[in-house]
Amino acid sequence: MSETKKVLVTGGAGFIGSHLCERMLEEGHQVVCMDNLLTGDLRNVEHLFRHERFSFYHQDVTEFIHVPGRLDYILHFASPASPIDYLELPIQTLKVGALGTHKVLGLARAKNARFLLASTSEVYGDPLEHPQQESYWGNVNPVGPRGCYDEAKRFAEACTMAYYRHHGVETRIVRIFNTYGPRMRLNDGRVLPAFMSQALRGEDLTVFGDGSQTRSFCYVDDLVEGITRLLYSDEVEPTNIGNPAEMTIREFGEAILELTGSESKFVEKPLPTDDPKVRRPNIDKARRVLGGWEPKVALREGLERTMAYFKERIASDG
Ligand code: UDP
Repeated sequence: MSETKKVLVTGGAGFIGSHLCERMLEEGHQVVCMDNLLTGDLRNVEHLFRHERFSFYHQDVTEFIHVPGRLDYILHFASPASPIDYLELPIQTLKVGALGTHKVLGLARAKNARFLLASTSEVYGDPLEHPQQESYWGNVNPVGPRGCYDEAKRFAEACTMAYYRHHGVETRIVRIFNTYGPRMRLNDGRVLPAFMSQALRGEDLTVFGDGSQTRSFCYVDDLVEGITRLLYSDEVEPTNIGNPAEMTIREFGEAILELTGSESKFVEKPLPTDDPKVRRPNIDKARRVLGGWEPKVALREGLERTMAYFKERIASDG
C-alpha cells in the first residue's frame, strides 16, 4: 500500500483494465476508469460504481480527452486485443495504439503524471529468438492482418520513449504475454474463451493448424501484481510480464478438456496468417527489477477460477 493517488485507467472496462481498476482501489487510490466500450464491457466494472473512489468516463482516447483535476498515474490499457478484433477493427486498433497513445501521453505530460503503457509480446512478432527477452527487436510482418496491432504497439513504445527522453515524462512499458482469467470476452476468438466455451457446451475444440504452436499462459492476478510493482518501480525500459510455463495449443486444449470433464474432440481449422509458432517470455528482468516477482497461480487453479466465471456467463447469456 502506498499513499493515495489519483489513477486513470484507459480501457478500464476491458478484461485486464477492470482487474487493474480493482487493484488500484485496493491500493487505496482514487480511480478514473475510461472506456469507449468498443470491446470493453460495463458489466466488468458495474460492481465498482458504488465505490466512492471510483468514477467512469465513457470516452474515446483517440479524441481529445479531458480529466479535471490532478492525475498521478495513468495506466494506458485501451485497445482491442485479440486477433479476431484486429481483423474486424483494424483501423480502430491502429488509431488507439498510435493516436490514442499520443493523446494519453499528452495528458500525462500536462498533468505531470506517471504513464504506464500496456505493450505486448506481439512486438516480437513470429520470434526468431526463443524465449523472448526484452533486448530482442522482433520479427513482425507490418502488412499482414496482425500488422495493425503489432505496429501500433511498436509505435506506442517509440512514442512513450520519445515522451520520456524529450519531455521528461515518467514512463513505464510492460510487454504482456498471453493472459487469461475471469472477464475475458466469451466470443473474442482467443484460444481460452474459444476452448472453454466449446468444452462447456460439448462442442468440438477448434485447433488452428496442427496445434503444435506454443504459448505460455499467465493468470490475470499474477499479471496485475507484476504491473503494479512495475508502476511503483523506476524501470523505464520495457519489461516482460508473463508466465514462462510453455505448452502446445493441443496440450492447452487437453488441460481444458480434463478440467471440464468434457467429451469434446479436436477439430483442425486453418492456421491464421502470421500466427507465431512459439511464444515464451524470459522473465529474468522482471524477477530482478520487481522485487522477486514471479507468477504464483498454477494453470489448473487459474483454469478452475476462469471456468467458474465462464459457467456463470454462459448461463446468464443463454
Ligand atoms: N487458437 C486455436 N483455436 C482457437 C483460437 C486460437 O487453436 O479457437 C490458437 C491460435 O492459432 C494461436 C493460439 O491458439 O496459435 C493462441 O491464440 P490467441 O488468439 O489466444 O492469441 P495469440 O497468442 O495468437 O495472440
